[in-house]
Amino acid sequence: MKKRRKMKKKVLKTIIPLLIVLVLVFAAFFTYKFIFKEKEKQFLETIETGVYADITKYAIYGIHMNLEGSITLPTTPKDIKLVLSNGQTEIEIPWIVEEQETTYTFKTSEYINEGIVLEDLPNETLYLLIKTTETNEENEDITKYYSVENETEYENLEYYTLTKNDKNNKIDIEWNTYEECPTLRFKIEETTLPEDVYDITLDPGHDASDPGKSICLNGNTIYDPSSSGYCYNGGTLYTEADFNLYVSLALKEQLEQRGFKVIMTRDSEDDYVNIYEPMGSATMANDTKSKLNLAIHHNSSGYDGGISYLKGLEVYIANDTNTDLAEILVKNITNTANTTASHKELYKIGNGIYQRFFTEEEITSSDVQPSRYTTNTSWYYNMREIGGISTNASNDGRFEDYPMNEHYNSNNTAEAYLLELGYMDNLTDITNMINNQDKYAEAIADAIQEYLNQE
Ligand SMILES: [Zn+2]
Repeated sequence: MKKRRKMKKKVLKTIIPLLIVLVLVFAAFFTYKFIFKEKEKQFLETIETGVYADITKYAIYGIHMNLEGSITLPTTPKDIKLVLSNGQTEIEIPWIVEEQETTYTFKTSEYINEGIVLEDLPNETLYLLIKTTETNEENEDITKYYSVENETEYENLEYYTLTKNDKNNKIDIEWNTYEECPTLRFKIEETTLPEDVYDITLDPGHDASDPGKSICLNGNTIYDPSSSGYCYNGGTLYTEADFNLYVSLALKEQLEQRGFKVIMTRDSEDDYVNIYEPMGSATMANDTKSKLNLAIHHNSSGYDGGISYLKGLEVYIANDTNTDLAEILVKNITNTANTTASHKELYKIGNGIYQRFFTEEEITSSDVQPSRYTTNTSWYYNMREIGGISTNASNDGRFEDYPMNEHYNSNNTAEAYLLELGYMDNLTDITNMINNQDKYAEAIADAIQEYLNQE
């Protein structure tokens, strides 16, 4: 009995100091949190009321967020900026601003794949504000902050940063979090990436029901297979679907080695891929909150039974995008995989870089009128339907043969590209593609890493 009491005493002796320490740690933590909150509140109280900037459009495309809007100020300021700020940390956002009297109309970029780089934001809580320097009656410079008001139909956004060293941040972009005031808050915190969220989606073109272009190769002779897909005269059958899959599987491995979390629309020759159903080739990137979608294809010139005089790489990009990633892709693939940029002139906008839009004629003859397409709308669904409002995704359920694209009206989408790695029906290309498939994958992975990490 006595021994027991002694034991109890001993236990208490160790537990009590531990408890005290624990209480102190908690107290310090909450005091810190409280002071932090108070500082945030103090800062928010310094923001002007009654005058707000109207945000008329905002969208995330890939790793960038773009905003458009305007503000009318009571007087002309000496200086005006767009910032993300909490009073302590302040980041100036580059913008394009037009001034008309005291009205400032602004957008963060001309390009949908530029703007606020969401990957670079610090783990803090920041507010989007207009910061001005104005002169008061005593002729002194004073700094003023103006908040922003949501003039769109869109609401809060959620963004997961790319996986870097096995870590991710979550950014909650939320309207009106402070009392009744119009505000746009970016809350950035480290998170565990949800299982169903990915960094990159790869879409190996075609599937078990559609091989894409098939050719027979016998020595230096290319010819078409029979209608049943058989190569007479001893040739070997090559299908585009298999080439696309092989390169994509190798690319997935290369990207995973670089730390990215990657998902594919199909990973076997026997898979069937839907376009617009959930996790289809037009939906998976957004279903999985991927930042990047690459459609991997191989080309053909389309001349029946003929051999293509065209050869080489074509990278197709969306509307209103800068060519940063496309240029790195062309540079890397031509250097590493022993190929050249295509010399096809149609739709060409740069070395190996292509952009194909609907023509007036295609718009007036499209299935459902009035058409949603414009002459700035990508002809390829691989870009158009993945970018939501940034790329004018058009499948709002109007087509009889397809279900609706659930993301067509989304302002939070992946950045998308279509790669035509080479011509199946060109001897130089097919030979190179057979010998260098892994090099293509390596070159693309390096390009993606360079693009996503450079900013
Ligand atoms: Zn194809």
